[in-house]
Amino acid sequence: PLILGIETSCDETGVGLVRGHELLGDQVASSVEQHVRFGGVVPEVASRAHLEAMVPTVQRALDSAGVKAADVDAVAVTAGPGLAGALLVGVSAAKAYAMALGKPLYGVNHLVGHVAVDQLEHGPLPKPAIALLVSGGHTSLLQVNDVATDVVSLGDTVDDAAGEAYDKVARLLELPYPGGPHIDKAAQRGGSSALRFPRGKWGDGTYDFSFSGLKTAVARHVEDADRSGSPLVVADIAAAFQDSVVDVLTRKAVDACVENGVSTLVISGGVAANSALRALAEQRCAEAGVELRIPRPRLCTDNGAMIAALGAEVVAAGLPPSSLDLATDTSLPVSMPLAV
Ligand code: ATP
Ligand code: MG
Ligand code: FE
Repeated sequence: PLILGIETSCDETGVGLVRGHELLGDQVASSVEQHVRFGGVVPEVASRAHLEAMVPTVQRALDSAGVKAADVDAVAVTAGPGLAGALLVGVSAAKAYAMALGKPLYGVNHLVGHVAVDQLEHGPLPKPAIALLVSGGHTSLLQVNDVATDVVSLGDTVDDAAGEAYDKVARLLELPYPGGPHIDKAAQRGGSSALRFPRGKWGDGTYDFSFSGLKTAVARHVEDADRSGSPLVVADIAAAFQDSVVDVLTRKAVDACVENGVSTLVISGGVAANSALRALAEQRCAEAGVELRIPRPRLCTDNGAMIAALGAEVVAAGLPPSSLDLATDTSLPVSMPLAV
């Protein structure tokens, strides 16, 4: 079956077309430039941008896949988690397409979509797999027994998300928003100093994360440098910050694999584009005998193909469609890949 996937949880209007594990079309319209001057996503602005981008983005996705709307067999949409108004635009559009086409509607979980998308690139996921989701809004470790029906949360951030920490530290260092790619780049020029920042929740026996103490440590370092008049070496601070983040993320993710006897780790979400995270994850997975799967960066950030990919799994599992009364759920738990 041909699945149309619609994603509007944050600031990307994503539309994907998937058949099984085959990616046929993937179009994304982002409103990120409209948020730059605010230093973060403004929900009202994001909702309006989704409204304007929705129909043209669906049309571009159909055209690029070389299919017609009438060929679609099912419509999948992000039901949550995400921004309330943004989710509502996507869910309303998906209901309209499903009704107009006379095809079933599936409201699916955005976070689980970030895991499901890997199958478009690397084929069927071994069962079980561990997934590390690292994005602007989330930092979660999941045990994925079955991507359509059985996902268990192992741990989460107790404060800031990893991407949020990158964005906040970038602001402290006067780097542009979104800060992740800028810190990644700056860090490649630094790292020679003896600077070392704390590792949040290191060795605490949980799979939880904490990044706000790290952010505060960076802020204090910047203040101290300002006060003493010593020059701020942005590259070294970026490198030391990044070392702390990727050390904890990869340590806990690999521990989760080893301690639960799981031999595959998937890393996804916008921060999975980070070069240091990729390099250290590769090294530690190789040492632990764990297979590492990271989708290409385009599929790691928010997109519609990930929602279509999860929709395809849900349809293949024979789960009943969502009702046309489907409501958005801003905090849909990962234990619900399919919203009712
Ligand atoms: P959600 O959390 O709901 O998935 P989001 O839009 O915040 O939504 P993504 O689009 O997946 O998440 O990722 C954006 C985040 O990824 C931003 O915080 C950005 O700074 C971070 N990011 C992007 N590239 C890199 C990189 N190379 N290194 C570190 N962080 C990065
Ligand atoms: Mg985004
Ligand atoms: Fe996301």
